[in-house]
Amino acid sequence: MQIVVQKFGGTSVQSEENRKHVVKHIKNALMQEYKLVVVVSALGRKPDPYATDTLLGLVNYPAGKSSAREIDMLLSCGEVISSVVLSNELKKQHISSTALTGAQAGFITNDDFNQARIKAVHPERIIKELEKHDVVVVAGFQGQTEDGEITTIGRGGSDTTAAALGAALAAERIEIFTDVNGIMTADPRVVETARPLDVVTYTEICNLAYQGAKVVHPRAVEIAMQSKIPMRVRSTYSQEEGTLVTSSRVQEAGMDVTERLITGIAHISSITQIRVQAKEEAYRLQSEVFKAMAESGISVDFINISPTGVAYTVPERHTEKAVHILKTLGFYPEITENCAKVSAVGAGMTGVPGVASMIVQALTDAEVQILQSADSHTTIWVLVNNKDLKAAVNALHEVFELSGLQKQS
Ligand code: ADP
Ligand code: ASP
Ligand code: MG
Repeated sequence: MQIVVQKFGGTSVQSEENRKHVVKHIKNALMQEYKLVVVVSALGRKPDPYATDTLLGLVNYPAGKSSAREIDMLLSCGEVISSVVLSNELKKQHISSTALTGAQAGFITNDDFNQARIKAVHPERIIKELEKHDVVVVAGFQGQTEDGEITTIGRGGSDTTAAALGAALAAERIEIFTDVNGIMTADPRVVETARPLDVVTYTEICNLAYQGAKVVHPRAVEIAMQSKIPMRVRSTYSQEEGTLVTSSRVQEAGMDVTERLITGIAHISSITQIRVQAKEEAYRLQSEVFKAMAESGISVDFINISPTGVAYTVPERHTEKAVHILKTLGFYPEITENCAKVSAVGAGMTGVPGVASMIVQALTDAEVQILQSADSHTTIWVLVNNKDLKAAVNALHEVFELSGLQKQS
């Protein structure tokens, strides 16, 4: 049995009109004699009635493990509704189909509610259903614990459901259908001239996704990479092939990875910068601040430690907690809220001189103030004010000629 896994995101299944495009892609794959496992997200976006954020708005629990468990019961319904709606439409088109929840599809997770990790996928039920039906529609983003508690696996998790099923079923390929034409050189909502890439490596898209390119979840890419299953990211609304995610562009496109200096520009907003000046207590400062943040479960980024003090960033939602901790320790933090992290990502920049200088010059020309910067061998990050985000992403996109007319691989 040759299986293809297709995943359709929230906007793709939002309306009957949109679902007609979904059905077309399913029919195309069936015509090529594949059996299909179709993973769906909840229908639409807030304020659509069954979208994940709409469901979240129905409750207002105080924080705590028991509420997290119930939130997962609630959120999982969004994807369950979606799977039944799509299966119903397929049946109306005389396609033999059945719908399964994540638990019924064999997803076993740990009990870290809202952020559960997939521990195992037991695909026997799906295989049995595929012997009777051409399509099994699986509710994304969810599973159950060994004790039968319903869990969800973190925002954007339907991509991960699809990749995990691809691996468990040794699928021919995993196709992630969404509302843009594939993985692009930047978020097209921010950069009008952003262009789809034909081929990217697992590593390139993983880096982009971790830096905020939410077109595909980085965990999904990791699973596809480990299981060596090719993944495509493509548009629900066209027959274009989109972007192939694979282990090496050398094989796929006859091109060496190092030929592409920068793959794309990604961004994350809603970040707060914290700076604490060292007075006499530089040693106590550097040892206590990060220990205290870690003990409170606050993830820190852009860490910069010097004899004059420390600077770092936290997600905006942790600002109040972080400031409170620092004050309790006797430190006086200076805070800059409304920051954004802009990342230039590309395996080809390793060892190439002048990349950082191009970035600084482009941002200076665009009158963007750099608040902090950091780099690794594949990524250069700059922290800017949110108000400068669009200018910064566009300036970097332009300086690396990412919207160039020649076809990019
Ligand atoms: P879905 O509901 O299909 O999972 P998402 O909203 O999660 O869709 O992801 C698709 C969105 O990702 C696009 O609409 C686009 O705005 C955004 N995006 C961010 N960075 C990129 C990028 N580099 N390439 C393509 N899309 C991107
Ligand atoms: N519906 C979930 C979310 O909005 C999962 C997903 O769409 O992948 O995060
Ligand atoms: Mg998504």
